[in-house]
Amino acid sequence: MEKNMSDLRQRFYIEDCPVRGEVVHLEEALQTILSQRPYQPAVQILLGEMLSATALLASTLKIKGRISLQIQASGTLKWAMAECTHLGEVRGLADYEDDPHFQEASDSSTVLKTLQNPVLFINIEPEFGERYQGIVPLDQPTLARCLMQYYDLSAQIPTHIVLATTTERSGGLLIQLLPRNNEEEQQLIDEDIWPRLTMLTETLKSEELTQLSANEILYRLYNEEQVKLPEIEQLKFGCTCSKERCANALIQIGVDAVRETLAEQNPILMDCQFCQARYTFTAEEALGLFGEHLS
Ligand SMILES: [Zn+2]
Repeated sequence: MEKNMSDLRQRFYIEDCPVRGEVVHLEEALQTILSQRPYQPAVQILLGEMLSATALLASTLKIKGRISLQIQASGTLKWAMAECTHLGEVRGLADYEDDPHFQEASDSSTVLKTLQNPVLFINIEPEFGERYQGIVPLDQPTLARCLMQYYDLSAQIPTHIVLATTTERSGGLLIQLLPRNNEEEQQLIDEDIWPRLTMLTETLKSEELTQLSANEILYRLYNEEQVKLPEIEQLKFGCTCSKERCANALIQIGVDAVRETLAEQNPILMDCQFCQARYTFTAEEALGLFGEHLS
């Protein structure tokens, strides 16, 4: 299969220095996701940034599973979510009411400033093991700034994130100063490296982040450093829905609600809003989830 070069993640390291980073680009996946609903421009931009951000954050995970960012709010935007798995599969969705403020946007600040009582969750769901949920205060002007603040305060890993999106293509860049464990090592590194790298990173323009290749971006920013590039990883649209997950959702709502649903719709049809897949449950299957039979 031909590699799709428009949706990818490039990890990088700076030689002799405890810094790692990632550059991500999403194009086909972004367009697939944005075509699922008629989103207003500012919501498209917010989703693009959230998708790039999850693709960046997924790279920091050491587990198999998925990471998602989820905004919940009252106001015209109800919720927005973006998810990336360890396989580099991304999906996203938002629910909102038309808002004249959403007609244009250059970054996530357009939507963020309209939110009422917003909460941003970072969810980490390993394939096996405990789920984790962090809450990120949405009190900075952009999504990137909110996430940076979260890393600095909660994770205590100095992290710099830049996000930029058009309705065609989204880009993101993350650099992290990795924890060092012994004093000797601390003395060996160049103390100015982190302030220097973050300052350089801040000079990246939105158009550069969305339009240049990962190589060009890294050269443009860090050509005075020795940048090491492992192999590029592919990102793509992918959905984690399944019949099993739908069954779990039915179990969650309970047998009475399932009986009520069956009275109106038999078989029960469940459409995945992320990918439009349709799952069908006959009455026998749906009630069988509760160990019950048709009566
Ligand atoms: Zn799906």
